[in-house]
Amino acid sequence: MTDKYAKPFNSLDRYAVVGNPIAHSKSPLIHEAFAKQTNQDISYEPILAPLDGFEATVRDLIASGYKGANVTVPFKFEAFQLSTSLAPQVDLAGAVNTMIFSDIGIIGHNTDGDGLVRDITQNLATNIEGKRVLLLGAGGAAEGVFQLLLVKKPAKLVVANRTYKKALRLVEKSFDKARRAEACTFDDLNDQQFDIIINATSTGLTDTALPIPNTIFAKGCLAYDMMYGRETPFMKQARENGAQVADGLGMLVEQAAEAFYIWRGVRPETQSVIQLIRNLA
Ligand code: NDP
Repeated sequence: MTDKYAKPFNSLDRYAVVGNPIAHSKSPLIHEAFAKQTNQDISYEPILAPLDGFEATVRDLIASGYKGANVTVPFKFEAFQLSTSLAPQVDLAGAVNTMIFSDIGIIGHNTDGDGLVRDITQNLATNIEGKRVLLLGAGGAAEGVFQLLLVKKPAKLVVANRTYKKALRLVEKSFDKARRAEACTFDDLNDQQFDIIINATSTGLTDTALPIPNTIFAKGCLAYDMMYGRETPFMKQARENGAQVADGLGMLVEQAAEAFYIWRGVRPETQSVIQLIRNLA
C-alpha cells in the first residue's frame, strides 16, 4: 500500500481535516491549540480531497497510519456512507464530521450538534428548554444539529427552508415521534415569533439576505448564524430588530473540542481558543 501522506514524525498520532476547499479551515489552528494546552503529542493537517475523490483520500490516510479525521464541506454525507459503524444518533443525522480510524473500521460521529448546543447554552448562557426555536436551512449543518436541539426540549422547533420538501424530510427524522418538529417555507413565518433563531443556511457565504420577516425576532431573541468571521445579512437584520446576535465561531471551536475528546479522551478548555481564533480574524 502507498503511504501518500508519509511524514518524518511517525511517532506522533496523526489527524487531519478533509474538505474542498480546505485552505480557509481554522481547524488545524484549533487542534494545535488544544494539543498544546493538554500536552497531547499529535499532528493535524488540512487535506484537500478532489470532489470525486473523498473515499480514495480517506483510504490513503488510513494506509498512512492516521488515527482519525474531521470532515467538512462537501463530504459529510459521503463520510456517513463510508463509516462502518456510527455513534448513537448519527444514523438519524445522516452526516458525519468526525471519523475514528480503528481496527474494526471507520467509526463515524457528528459533533456539530454538541458544538452548537454547548455554545448556545454555556458560552451564550441561553437555555433552549421551553423556548420557541427556528432553524433556518435543511442542509448538512441543519441535519447535524436538528436532533440535539430536540433533545433540549424546546417549546417548539420549526425548520424553515427554501426547498420545503427538504425541511419536511428533516423533521420526519425526529428521533422522538412525540416531540415532532414542524417544517415550513420562509413565507409561512409571517405570524410567528421565536426566542432562538439559528441560521444554518449557506447564505452568509454569498452575502444573500433571507426572505424572512422582521417580526419573527421575539423580545430578547438570540439570533445565531453558523457562519463566522463577518456580519452576515441575517445577523444585520437580527441586530436591527433588537436581537442578541452571535456568529458560529464558538460552535466551530466547541465541535472541535468534542472531536478532540472523542479521539484523545481529554476535554480541552475552549474559551481561550475561541478568543485566540477571534483575535486572528
Ligand atoms: P449545505 O449546502 O448542505 O446546505 C445549504 C442550505 O442553505 C440549504 O438549506 C439551502 O436551501 C440553503 N440555501 C442556500 N442558498 C440559499 C438562498 N439563496 N436562499 C435561501 N436558502 C439558501 O450547507 P451546510 O449545511 O453544510 O452549511 C451551511 C452553513 O453552515 C455554511 O455557511 C457553513 O459554513 C456553516 N457551518 C458552520 C459550522 C460551524 O462550526 N460554525 C459547522 C457546519 C456548517 P435549499 O435546500 O433550498 O437548497
